[in-house]
Formats: sequence, structure tokens, C-alpha cells
Amino acid sequence: MQSTQYSSFWFKEALESESDIQPRKLEANTTTDVCIVGGGFTGLWTAIQLKMKQPALDILVIEKDLCGSGASGRNGGCMLTWSTKYLTLKKQYGEAEAIRLVKASEAAVYEIEAFCKTHGIDAQIRLDGTLYTASNRAQLGGIEPVLAALDEQTINTWQPWTKEKVQSESGSNVHLEGHFSLAAGTVQPGLLVRGLKRVAEQMGVTIFEHTPMTEIQRQHTPVRITTPCANIQANKVVLALNAWTPALLPEFKNSVVLVSSDMLITEPAPDLLKNLGFRDGKSVIDGRTFVHYYRTTPDGRLMLGKGGNYFSFGNRMSAVFDQPSRYQTILDAAFRRFFPAMHSVPVAATWTGASDRSATGMPFFGRLTDTPSVVYGLGYSGNGVVQSWIGGQILSSLVLEEDNDWTRSGLASGPKGSFPPEPIRWLGAILVRNAIRRKESAEDENRTPNWLDKQLSKLANFAGKADKV
Ligand SMILES: Cc1cc2nc3c(=O)[nH]c(=O)nc-3n(C[C@H](O)[C@H](O)[C@H](O)COP(=O)(O)OP(=O)(O)OC[C@H]3O[C@@H](n4cnc5c(N)ncnc54)[C@H](O)[C@@H]3O)c2cc1C
Repeated sequence: MQSTQYSSFWFKEALESESDIQPRKLEANTTTDVCIVGGGFTGLWTAIQLKMKQPALDILVIEKDLCGSGASGRNGGCMLTWSTKYLTLKKQYGEAEAIRLVKASEAAVYEIEAFCKTHGIDAQIRLDGTLYTASNRAQLGGIEPVLAALDEQTINTWQPWTKEKVQSESGSNVHLEGHFSLAAGTVQPGLLVRGLKRVAEQMGVTIFEHTPMTEIQRQHTPVRITTPCANIQANKVVLALNAWTPALLPEFKNSVVLVSSDMLITEPAPDLLKNLGFRDGKSVIDGRTFVHYYRTTPDGRLMLGKGGNYFSFGNRMSAVFDQPSRYQTILDAAFRRFFPAMHSVPVAATWTGASDRSATGMPFFGRLTDTPSVVYGLGYSGNGVVQSWIGGQILSSLVLEEDNDWTRSGLASGPKGSFPPEPIRWLGAILVRNAIRRKESAEDENRTPNWLDKQLSKLANFAGKADKV
């Protein structure tokens, strides 16, 4: 197995840690109770949760490449919750559900850790919390409205830190303020997703890799799925296709926008990181629209990412998403700004991937209108490492037709809102992205941004602050 064909540092590292990778392809027609299409976090958590609820269920996962080769094996590994999304959740789903979802997302952090411990998945999970900061004066106080609302509901897990503490514990003097929550951490996502694959198989889930779904014949019972060598007939289907969904299901073509998140990782420099005070596994996220996020690894590397760079026209899964980042200059500049003392540490790799940004910044789940036996989930908008565990709860509940908090949740009622069609969408996205870039670089340099850039930047507010896109 060639790990070198993948640009994600995490995914390569995870594949190299497996002694024997022999992907099994589907080569003969088959039938199954449940066919899950897509072997990322969402598909695998759904398979695992279905098996936990109904061990006798026959479950098949098909993955077009290797499990984890999508967003799940290449993200920043920041385990974040929905607490900073409370106001959006409240607006979309009402106060009670918003409170429940914030708490559920915090509980999910610990559920994932516990699952890994129970099943021997060493995914380098370090629940050392997360620090949301202001990395220039314009970002000061940006998190206050949501914290006030969380306070009102007595669900605020965030503590304000002094500027000195923020700087000393984040390894960077760029930060001017920060709030810390312990209900968070970091993970090596490639190890997590490959570990979930192993555990799912041990639980009796059948997984075929290098087996793309080329067609789904809807409105058939059972549903028919075509793959290059064989067909599948399934009583229930879960489409866990993330950024690939719009290409395969036209009804979602305006429900998400595919936008890159790009990242770099350094060679190990543990002593330097220790000197800078950045010793643990917390994630650090700043308060701009297309945030900077960074974290360390247990062997003393620093990973820094930034979202909102490449917007794909027509939501095509461009080859750009599978190559080293074409935005290394932007990443290098941010790295040098945050960590001038690390300027001589070599960059080991850069990579990128497509985030499926929804109109509300929240994922959505549901049943296909014309084929209710097919369920889907996508739109994590850059916050999916922890939230895909919740995705597994929702999708497994929908498959089993349970009546519970997950099937009754507003999250399970399909997409909320949509984006304009092309070419307006792409042109608008580039116009707004460039305005945000100019505005934020002016703010980084303590200059007053251009008035028009400020107005255009407001159009991105749907994207929500403190997202990883
Ligand atoms: C670069 C990047 C950085 C991110 N950073 C973070 C972060 O730090 N924290 C966070 O919380 N979230 C982050 N996210 C978001 C998070 O990674 C995703 O929300 C999450 O991994 C989604 O999981 P998934 O299983 O739904 O999708 P995926 O992991 O993308 O899985 C979908 C799978 O479907 C497969 N597939 C596609 N088409 C077919 C087909 N026709 N037939 C069969 N299989 C098919 C794909 O190969 C893929 O493996 C980031 C995302 C990206 C892209």
C-alpha cells in the first residue's frame, strides 16, 4: 500500500503504522440490511452505533478509496464543541434544543475518548482543552455575546484567561486575549479513522474499499447501488459522502459550498515548543472569519491551519483538494507571525481538503424525499471531528426508525437555507474572500480597513466566527 500518494501528513502516518493493509474490493453482487456509502468518521460511527444497537444487523460500508482518505484523515484534529455555536443553534432550533446540542457536543468529546480507550485505538487524544483568542485588536471581545448567552443558561464552560496566561500557554505573543474551555482537545485524525475501521470490522461490519458507488437507483425497494464490479441491494442506505454529496445528489448542489482548509506541519521541535510554553494538546483558534488554528503533536511538531482559501466552482471535487496546499505562502506568513522563534524549523508537509460549508454553519441530516429508506448527513462546515459522532447517533437512529431526541432534532430535518447558483456563488465567494483578506490584513497591521471591504466581509457572517473554515 502506497501511503505516499496521500498528501495528508496524518493519513500517511496512520497508514504507515498499519502492518498489513489489504483493501478488499466488492467483486460480487450482494444484498444487505444497511449499506453505508463513505468510510469517513460519519459512515464508520454510524456503522458502529448501528452494530451496538442491533448486533445482528448486516452492515456493509463501501468506500471509493481507503477509509479515512476524505476529510476525516486530513483535518486539523481539533476536537471542538458546539458551545460557540449556541446562538446559531438557538436561532435555528430553539433554546431547549440548543442547550441540549451544546451539552451533547461536550459529552461527545468524552465519548470519543472513552470509545478509543475501550477499543484500544491509540489516536493520540489529548483532552487539554481549547483556547479561543483574539489575534489582533479588531477581534477583541468577539466571543463575548455567545459567552453571555451561555452564562444565562448556566452552560458556560469557558474561562477568561489573562493576556499573559494566553500568551504563555499558547506559545505566541500575538494573542491579545483568550478564553479557555476544557471540554475539547486534539486527536491524530488519521489514526482515529483507521482505528474506527478496525473496530467496525471487529464488530462484524463488512467494509469494501476501492469500491465507489457509481449510481444509486432510488425509488426501488430494496435500493440498488452500482459499483464498478458488482451491485448491492440494500434495505436501507446511509449516504455519508460529505463533500462528494453535491456531485452525486443534485438536490444538494446549492446546500453547501466546498471551500479548502489548508495546513502545514513542522518537523519535530519539542524543546523549542517547550521554551515557548506550548506544552500540551490544546488547540488554539483565533477570532477571524477564516480562522487560524494550531496545535502540537505528542512528538513536538506544530500544525497550523487556515480556512477559506480555495472555493470550488460548482462544488466540483477538484484535484486541488488532493495536493499539497497551493497556499503555502499564506500558511508560512501566518506561521512566522505567530511563531517568529520557530522560523528555522523546517515544514514537513502541507496539505488541504474540502470542507462542506452549509448556509447555517451547521450539519444537516435527513431522508431523501423520494426515497425515505436513504438517509444522509453532511455540512459539518469545518467542525466535524466531534460532531460526526453525533452524526452517527442521528443516522443510526434514522436507519432504525427510532423516535428519540436525535430523530426529533431539527438537525435531522434536512438543509436549512441554500446558496445562490453558479456562477453567482463562486464570483460572490471570491469577492467576499478577497475583501476579508484585505480587511484582516489591515487589522493585523492595526490599520483601518477599507469601508467597502468591511461591508463585503459582513456578507460572510453566515460563516460564523470561530469555525474552522
Ligand atoms: C482540511 C480540513 C480540516 C479540518 N479540520 C477540522 C478540525 O480541526 N476539527 C473539526 O472538528 N473538523 C475539521 N474538519 C472537518 C472534518 O474533518 C469533517 O467534518 C469530517 O471529517 C467529516 O467526516 P465525514 O465522514 O462526513 O466525511 P469524509 O471523511 O470526507 O468521508 C466521506 C467519504 O466518502 C467517500 N466517498 C466519496 N464518494 C464516494 C463514492 N462515490 N462511493 C464511495 N465512497 C465515496 C470519500 O472517499 C470519503 O472517504 C476539517 C475538514 C477539512 C477538509
